[in-house]
This record gives sequence, structure tokens and C-alpha cells, in this order.
Amino acid sequence: MNTLHWFREDLRLLDNPAVTFAAQSGPVTFVFIFPEGLGSASYWWLHHSLVSLSSSLKERGAQLVLRTGDPVSVLTDLVEETDAQLVTWNRVYSTSGIDQGKRVKSLLEEKQVSNRSFNGQLLIEPTEVVNKQGTPFKVFTPFWRHCLTKLTPRPIQPIPEFVSGSNAIESEDIKSWALRPESPNWASRFDDHWNPGETGAHIKWADFLDRKIRFYELGRDIPSEDNTSLLSPHLAFGEMGPNQLLFDIHQGIAEQSIDQSWGDKFLSEIGWREFSRYLIVHFPSMLEDPFNSKFDCFPWGNNHELLEAWQRGQTGYPVVDAGMRELWNTGYMHNRVRMIAASFLTKHCLLHWRLGAEWFWDTLLDADVANNTCSWQWVAGCGVDASPYFRIFNPILQGEKFDGDGVYVRKWLPELSTLPNKYIHSPWTAPDQVLASAGITLGLDYPKPIVDHKDARTLALSAYQSIK
Ligand SMILES: Cc1cc2nc3c(=O)[nH]c(=O)nc-3n(C[C@H](O)[C@H](O)[C@H](O)COP(=O)(O)OP(=O)(O)OC[C@H]3O[C@@H](n4cnc5c(N)ncnc54)[C@H](O)[C@@H]3O)c2cc1C
Repeated sequence: MNTLHWFREDLRLLDNPAVTFAAQSGPVTFVFIFPEGLGSASYWWLHHSLVSLSSSLKERGAQLVLRTGDPVSVLTDLVEETDAQLVTWNRVYSTSGIDQGKRVKSLLEEKQVSNRSFNGQLLIEPTEVVNKQGTPFKVFTPFWRHCLTKLTPRPIQPIPEFVSGSNAIESEDIKSWALRPESPNWASRFDDHWNPGETGAHIKWADFLDRKIRFYELGRDIPSEDNTSLLSPHLAFGEMGPNQLLFDIHQGIAEQSIDQSWGDKFLSEIGWREFSRYLIVHFPSMLEDPFNSKFDCFPWGNNHELLEAWQRGQTGYPVVDAGMRELWNTGYMHNRVRMIAASFLTKHCLLHWRLGAEWFWDTLLDADVANNTCSWQWVAGCGVDASPYFRIFNPILQGEKFDGDGVYVRKWLPELSTLPNKYIHSPWTAPDQVLASAGITLGLDYPKPIVDHKDARTLALSAYQSIK
């Protein structure tokens, strides 16, 4: 039976349930449809990921057809062009992804074309997890505890042998999609850090299992150290699925190459990824509105100079600025620093979490609608199981705690590189002589703080009082 596989957020051939099913059904044509609304950094990643996928398919005698348009009309055309009797895809667990899937399904049913969709994106189908009252979980720990009772890894499905459909199907040229920035090419340094595509994902994962996982539990909060998996963009584009992670961790524990506690800690972070998707499936209004409706009338400020200083890494608080510059240079920011930077924007600058989420969406290579929205709401205090609003991170103490010797700050803020450790997280407290011998004129080489920590904290708390 001629089959069409519609690639979405599953840009891989290994352990891809829909591709495996398609391959068993008959000659397969593979299509990817231009996704509207990604951030600029994600488009850079997408370009490379599609080039990689396309070359894996080519090695197997198949082509990746690229098309632009509404999936319903693109797939209608392609079903006719390929004479497909079956269309397969992996489900995308987001509001627009679910809506697209439903529209495509009803079109295919109308045309009496078979279709099969699979879960290749999550460990557990969000609708299958409810609490004893039959309603969705709203707290992470019981959610994850419940999931763990149901989780068994599926054996990894190898890259299937398949017969390719016709290679004469018209495809758009990826160059015409212009996914990469040109002038200026702000992504020029991304190549030093990333290798998008399925092979790159497996290299990162193998390195994590061989070398980093033992340091993960204790070291994942230290931004100057390389202790986390760096898999997030690969997972966001589905170049590797979470079943692979679960399977390998279980196997490592069984073979005693991985300690149970290392595996549990890492999997609990994958649990947060599951929880975020689960939440936006059950509470889709979270994508726009605060989960905690008390925050509907929170008196957010609108000082765009503060927003710009934050975006450029010019707040005068070194750990925040280092994070924002890491983001600009690499398309990534360490999780601990994401929390500090997000807290600074929403509490010290009193700016709406959506402004921060939009900037992250545009600049992160791992931009993921669920992880990004839920994390921003969590930090801002208005999300599900959120950190309470009144717990305001002190960026100086956070810097001293997680980057005590200033290695991370010095890496991204070379202008502070010779400042002694004592002042590295609060340069404005350094005596003039110390600043002079470090070659720093505050306000010239590095900004003075854009807000005073104590005043900002007081203002944030009184804003919170107004909605309590
Ligand atoms: C304000 C803010 C915005 C964020 N935006 C995103 C985003 O757009 N995309 C994104 O993937 N992550 C986001 N995160 C979560 C987290 O920072 C990243 O997933 C993590 O830093 C990625 O690095 P890693 O792959 O080395 O993570 P590891 O520590 O190795 O974790 C492995 C995987 O678990 C998942 N994960 C880890 N922490 C979290 C978390 N807190 N919530 C959900 N999933 C998690 C990710 O898929 C990650 O790749 C955000 C966090 C904050 C505080």
C-alpha cells in the first residue's frame, strides 16, 4: 500500500514508531511541511536537522519532500500525487499540533484514506494520566510518581528497511526557505557548539551516559561545568525520543553501569518535560494566560529600557548578563541561569513573563512551547506547582552560590575577567582602586545595576500584595 509519512516534531529514523509502521506498509514517501511561527534560532536548527534527515533518507534511496502550506491541503495534494492509501505521523502534543492532527485525520477519513498516528514524543499519553478524582494532576511529584508506576520502556525500534515511493515527487528547495540568518549572521558561532540531527543527538547522549551522568545529580546546577546532557534541542525536534532515554537508563541500571540514583535524577527531569506537555494538553489556556488566575490583574510594569538591557545582557548583575550573553552566543542557557534571569525579569524588572518567554522563544535553539511556557510561569509564580512569587532570587547570592569563583561570569563577561572573586557578582561594591586595577569603569566598560536589588524586591512584594 503506498504510504505517506508526515514528519513533524519527529526528525529521526531510529525508534520512530510511525516511520516503522509506514515502512512495513509499502513504498513510503516522506514529507515535511514548513512550520509557521518558530523562533529565529529554531529555524537555524531546523535547517540543519532537515539537511541531516534528508541525507539519511538519500542514503536509503528515498527523498525528503519539502512543501509549504496548510497541512490539510499539502497532504491532500500529496495523497493524490503519490496515490497513497495510508498516511502516518507522530502526534504533536500542543494545541496547534493537536488541532492540525485532527483536521488532517478528518480530511483523510472523508477521502477514505487510512491513517495512523503514534506517540513518539512522550513517554505517556497525557490523557491516560489522572489522579484518584479522575482529574489532571496539578503537582509534579504525585504526577511523576504516578507515571513511574506505569512506565516500561518499549524495545528500541531499529531504523527500518523500506521501499521508497517515487523519487519524482516535486519538492521545494530548502534554500528557498531561507531558514538561516545571512546579514548579519548572528548564528555564526552556533556551529562551534551544536551538531543538529539524529547523529548529533546520539553522540551527545552517548557522551552523557559514558561521562556526565555520574556528576549530574550534584553538578547540574553549576553553570560553568559541563554536567548536563545538552539534549534539549535534539529532543525539541524529535531527533531522539524519550523512549530511547528511558530504555538506555533502565538498561544501564540493570547492567550496573548506571547507579539507580543517577538514573532517577535524570529521568525526573525528563518527567518535567512530560509534565509540561501534560499541562498544556489539559490546560491549553496556559499558553497565553496565567494558570493562577489571581495573576490576571498583576500590575506588570512596561519599562522597555529594562527589557532591552535584560535582552542585551546589560543589567549590571553579572550572573544575569552572563546568561543572556551565553544565550545570544550559543542559542542555549544553563537551566540554573535561566531561572535566575527569568526571575530577574519578572520580579526585579516587574516585566510580564510573556515578554521573557517571547525572547527565549526567538533565541533558544531548544525553544519548546510547553517547557518554555510552563517554566516561565513557574518562575513568575503564576504557574502550576509554581515557586511562590515572594521567593525572589537574589542575583548576587545566586551567583555566589552557583558560580562562587566566577568562572561562568568571566567566560561570558570578559570585561570583568580580572575582577577579584569577592566582587565578581557585585562589581558596584568594589572599591574604586580595585575597579581601576581591573581596568573597569562602571557605566562605561560594564553597566551599573539597572535596578537596586533591595528596592526592586520591595516593589515586587508590594505588587504581589495587591493581588493576594
Ligand atoms: C525560564 C525557563 C525557560 C525554559 N525554556 C525551555 C525551552 O524552551 N525548552 C526546553 O527544552 N527547556 C526549557 N527550559 C528547561 C531547561 O532549562 C532546559 O530543558 C535545560 O536547561 C536543557 O539543558 P539540558 O538538555 O542539558 O538538560 P538536562 O538537565 O540534561 O535535562 C534533560 C532534558 O530534560 C528536560 N528538562 C530538563 N529540565 C527541564 C525543565 N525544568 N522543564 C522541562 N523539561 C526539562 C529537557 O528536555 C532536557 O533536555 C526552561 C527553563 C526555564 C527556567
